[in-house]
Amino acid sequence: MFNHPEYDNHERVAFCREPEVGLTAIIAVHDTALGPAFGGCRMWPYEDEGAALTDVLRLSRGMTYKAAICQLPYGGGKSVIIGDPQRDKTPDLLRAMGRLVEGLGGAYIIADDVGTTLDDLAVMRRETSHTAATTASAREPLAVTAYGVLRALETAAEVELGRSDLAGLTVAVQGLGNVGLPLCRYLRERGAELTVADVDADRVATAEREVQATAVAPEAIYRQPVDVFAPCALGGILNDGTIPHLAARIVCGGANNQLLSPSHDAALAARGIVYVPDYLANAGGVIDFHQESIDDSAGAVLAAVARIGDITRDVLAQASAAGETPLAIANRLVRRRLAAARP
Ligand code: NAD
Repeated sequence: MFNHPEYDNHERVAFCREPEVGLTAIIAVHDTALGPAFGGCRMWPYEDEGAALTDVLRLSRGMTYKAAICQLPYGGGKSVIIGDPQRDKTPDLLRAMGRLVEGLGGAYIIADDVGTTLDDLAVMRRETSHTAATTASAREPLAVTAYGVLRALETAAEVELGRSDLAGLTVAVQGLGNVGLPLCRYLRERGAELTVADVDADRVATAEREVQATAVAPEAIYRQPVDVFAPCALGGILNDGTIPHLAARIVCGGANNQLLSPSHDAALAARGIVYVPDYLANAGGVIDFHQESIDDSAGAVLAAVARIGDITRDVLAQASAAGETPLAIANRLVRRRLAAARP
């Protein structure tokens, strides 16, 4: 465990199994220096436990960075349930997960993620109070992550390309799911021209119809001659195989862990491509959670998420002044905040 490449001094990693209800889960609490660890519960039919462990370690660390860059009073955590959500999810399994969260005594606040829903959190709440989405407004669907990506993207286009609005800006969006499709809608409303790719033909058809997007094959999305590339599907897609082909000036999207390795940040910079840190652009969810406890109306939540644009502006300005990448600046801000919060 301590030699695991994704282990980053995580405070706590809990392995849990309750065979009576078919639950096999891992909860990772990365860092609670700034507050209780907040993060989603992913239910996925992982190939093996190793893949689940890698995912939960990486994603929980990412949550620490999201909360810290946005100066929110939370740490980073994540949980994974190994299983097929369509086949294996039952109320008993969810209640068992709720008891595990309760057993951590508030160190971890569980939210929805791939394979889990707000309704699932409601079942868990019979066993624990440490869940997201406790208010009625919070249970209304609101595309907060996509809205945060939009604000980061708008700011990057303004700072790096001198754009005062998005009219005619060309954007290639990879992945048309919960983040990518609403992002396309926001961009189209503001006049951007969209090129899209997804492995799901129905989603591509929806984007063609709703936002007049031009569809390309999934492997062709990297080569599009656009202003901005917005990865909103998988992690690790910025790598030695893709970076040499990118023709965009800016990369700004919602996917987690877009860089295959930290060295790919420098590879993008060497090609003159500005990379907006993924954990900044896609931090809308944790801002939303925090806002729930203050004023959970849709207008107040979106106004709070819009701060991602201000933080992006600050990070890009510091990067330009220091001759460093935005990621290097953001990482340093996060590390300083964590160090300052430690006793
Ligand atoms: P999703 O499952 O709803 O959508 C992902 C989409 O990507 C799907 O339509 C899928 O078909 C498509 N896809 C898969 N492989 C592809 C490929 N090779 N090429 C093109 N498209 C492909 O997921 P989501 O909730 O939209 O999340 C997308 C990304 O954003 C993930 O990395 C996720 O971790 C991250 N993220 C999501 C949220 C959120 O609020 N949903 C928050 C933060 C980060």
